[in-house]
Amino acid sequence: LVSRENHPQRSTVTVRGVPIGPDTVTLIAGPCAVETPEQTLEAALMAKAAGATLLRGGAYKPRTSPYAFQGLGEKGLRILADVREQTGLPIVTEVVDAHDVALVASYADMLQVGTRNAQNFALLQAVGAAGKPVMLKRGMTATIEEWLMAAEYVAQRGNLDIVLCERGIRTYEPATRNTLDISAVPVVQRLSHLPVIVDPSHSGGRRDLVLPLSRAAVAVGADGLIVDVHPHPEQALCDGPQALVDGDLDALAAVMRDFPPLV
Ligand code: PEP
Repeated sequence: LVSRENHPQRSTVTVRGVPIGPDTVTLIAGPCAVETPEQTLEAALMAKAAGATLLRGGAYKPRTSPYAFQGLGEKGLRILADVREQTGLPIVTEVVDAHDVALVASYADMLQVGTRNAQNFALLQAVGAAGKPVMLKRGMTATIEEWLMAAEYVAQRGNLDIVLCERGIRTYEPATRNTLDISAVPVVQRLSHLPVIVDPSHSGGRRDLVLPLSRAAVAVGADGLIVDVHPHPEQALCDGPQALVDGDLDALAAVMRDFPPLV
């Protein structure tokens, strides 16, 4: 279903009127985690200033440590919905448990499945049946074949509104949090008709790498970027070191401007 063999034209997925696909480069930005209404609104305004047309923000956080901030849950979803109201930005948010899909889908414009759940087949089937566009991140140890098969689980439930997100894979190299597999973008675009975006924040794990990796992603033909921004990263409850700050926004906007989509 996701292969280009029977569907030669590359697809565009529309999220509450915002297209993600071959004719455009879509910027999704926002805080890694929803922490407070003020922080979420400030981050959303930063995202908008950089040219983002979709707001990201996690209310359910899949953390490596059970002692780390796990997200605000439904309270976080309500904050996102309020900020959507205030800014007009549709929201992309992660769901980590199949039992929460209906609840998260009642607030979200796009459901995100993260790297740790990329082969949680019950979750993939549940999001496939939820009637909302899905962003499927690449599992951190997934081959491209495994990633596309994960997408197939979503598609099988009747939902072809899937955006694939390359977010770095685990390699032997500890200098970055993950290794951005930039070649995955054109490789997957040749294999699948689905749009492919890149997360330069979670791949590098470092603020100073976000802009160079964004340039690389857009130059290689990514259909969009998903980027963490935070008004006060030093106080962030999740992934502060990779969040862009106010001073980075012009440069991020320039990345979007200077690299027209490769059609
Ligand atoms: C995220 O985008 O908030 C996230 C946790 O990303 P990943 O699943 O790629 O680690």
